[in-house]
Amino acid sequence: MSIASSPGAKLFIIYTGGTIGMAFDDATGTLVPMGFREIKYHIPELAKLGYEFDMHAFNPPMDSSNMSPEIWIELANIIYTHYANYDGFIILHGSDTMAFTASALSFMLENLAKPVILTGSQLPIGEIRTDAKENIITTMEIAAAKKNGKARVPEVCIYFDYDLFRGNRTKKYNTETFEAFNSFNYPSLAEAGIDIKYNDQFILDYPREPFQINTRLNVNIAVLKMFPGITPHAVNAVLQTPQLKAVILETFGNGNTITAPWFIDCLKKTIDEGIIVLDRTQCDGGSVELGRYETSAYLKDAGVISGHDMTFEAAVTKLMYLLAQGYPVEKVKQLLEISLKGELTEK
Ligand code: ASP
Repeated sequence: MSIASSPGAKLFIIYTGGTIGMAFDDATGTLVPMGFREIKYHIPELAKLGYEFDMHAFNPPMDSSNMSPEIWIELANIIYTHYANYDGFIILHGSDTMAFTASALSFMLENLAKPVILTGSQLPIGEIRTDAKENIITTMEIAAAKKNGKARVPEVCIYFDYDLFRGNRTKKYNTETFEAFNSFNYPSLAEAGIDIKYNDQFILDYPREPFQINTRLNVNIAVLKMFPGITPHAVNAVLQTPQLKAVILETFGNGNTITAPWFIDCLKKTIDEGIIVLDRTQCDGGSVELGRYETSAYLKDAGVISGHDMTFEAAVTKLMYLLAQGYPVEKVKQLLEISLKGELTEK
């Protein structure tokens, strides 16, 4: 029998739900969640890996479309409680909002020295052609992996379909193929083939300070996605959201958008009121470059902040995290343009 690397490692699994643990309900014809006992039953290989593992299962398991900041806080607290006693943490999670949870945790788990890896599957574990087995087994191997006595990947990641990605660089981009996720602006941290090949140069450095969690989040943000023909009514409906602290402006190409005077006025008024406007491109690959085109130069002058090459998921959760820390607006703006957890490429 071949056994996995790092035998004897202690892992903690948090089972939140998602397709991975769902089964077809013949009565309703829909997918409904089942318990972790059924998952273990479908992966007898877990016993062969030679790891010790304990788990916390959400009861009832949830479809990740119902994920919320309150549950991110719960996840951070569970990890904190068990941190000292385990080598790595695995979160079984629905794929729909997995990239949001991974991004949120990347900011909330400070000075992380152990892997926290989210995984799930496109087909339920009971299906013959399921991708769940490979995803769970390899995730466990990576969560257990050490080099010179230290965790191989001390960061929040997503493992799916043979790739390990940095969590806050990842996006669900396909609902049909087993390759559900991609990291358009950052290379994979590891690829699983015959061996697991770690790309050490892309993995975050080991922290120097002790692990802690920061569970303050502020949800007073909104999103304004631009399209040709957008009306002042639609723009104002978003910008005049009560209690608004920041808006993600989803723009075209390198961060460009319409230059109609009414739109520029709306943005200037919003920024003058102390609301942060973060420019993020609607493109998956590449970066905002304010001032590259005339159609974005005025945004810079008006005080719009560049989202660089952040994913939407990273932008949402980074704003929630930063807005809750009690910093002055100028400091939040400054930190938005800096990489805190490898979520953006600084120019
Ligand atoms: N709706 C499911 C969820 O996100 C989809 C999945 O798990 O892939 O919970």
